[in-house]
Amino acid sequence: RVCVVGSINMDVVTTTRKMPKQGETVLGKDFRTYPGGKGANQAVAASRLGSDVTLIGAVGDDVFGHDLLTHLSEEGIRTEGITVIPNVPTGVANIILTNNDNRIIVAPGANHHVTPEVVKQHRKLIEQSDVVLLQLEIPLETIAYTVDLAYELGNDIILNPAPFQTLPEHILRKVTYLTPNETEAEAMGLTKLDIDIKHKIVMTLGERGVHFMKDDMMIPAFSVPVVDTTGAGDTFNGAFAHQLANKQPIEQIIRRANAASALSVTKMGAQGGMPTALEVEQFLTM
Ligand code: ADP
Repeated sequence: RVCVVGSINMDVVTTTRKMPKQGETVLGKDFRTYPGGKGANQAVAASRLGSDVTLIGAVGDDVFGHDLLTHLSEEGIRTEGITVIPNVPTGVANIILTNNDNRIIVAPGANHHVTPEVVKQHRKLIEQSDVVLLQLEIPLETIAYTVDLAYELGNDIILNPAPFQTLPEHILRKVTYLTPNETEAEAMGLTKLDIDIKHKIVMTLGERGVHFMKDDMMIPAFSVPVVDTTGAGDTFNGAFAHQLANKQPIEQIIRRANAASALSVTKMGAQGGMPTALEVEQFLTM
């Protein structure tokens, strides 16, 4: 079983021909909402592949919050760890898209209320899991608390350090795998740290694949027609957690996570392209 502790957002996307200037109003083309947030995205990725997934997080007591709860249950995710917080908005990512530009504002809302106390209340869900998967869209003190707890319980811990933040050493030491993309790895100065955590680092390199630093191993990406790379990293992490919970050897874990995320970039949207286990199998035997 996989337990994701992380963010839940509604992505609110407006497309327009022209980006408005300061003080300007323009008529847009289209408006849509998409379920998102790194925690929820990664939970969906693992669930589609067949993992038993629990998500610990929070939404507001509003239309988006209730829609997202329904959506996550329909994706087969256990939602008893999701707290509905009154008088706080659900997290949203406001996205404005033109043909060649995007502007994004994330308002974390309820995600800021995923406190250590919330995780403590759901300790049982972590106890019942093999793998705990975290990102950095909830408060750092909650990440620290969860990592300590999961470490104590002997779970495998995957920390996807996105969006980038400097992390204290005591967290890094307890993590089993750290999965930065290239930009995050550089920003964290991972190779220059005083502590040796090289053996934990699985660095994703987009279309170039993955560098597993322990054995200085490169696992290439699959070559696919790219439609939308949004959510490639989230698919990778969810798939990585799924394979790790199934006790696969690390090389297999990464190869299959590469396959799942390659499939995800062939379709629109973060969650839209996340494959099922059958789709990954078919892709690998093609
Ligand atoms: P992020 O989305 O977090 O920036 P990456 O861009 O490194 O992360 O992508 C994560 C993984 O998704 C890569 O390691 C690779 O397996 C897969 N991937 C990303 N882009 C492509 C692509 N263009 N073709 C095939 N696979 C891709």
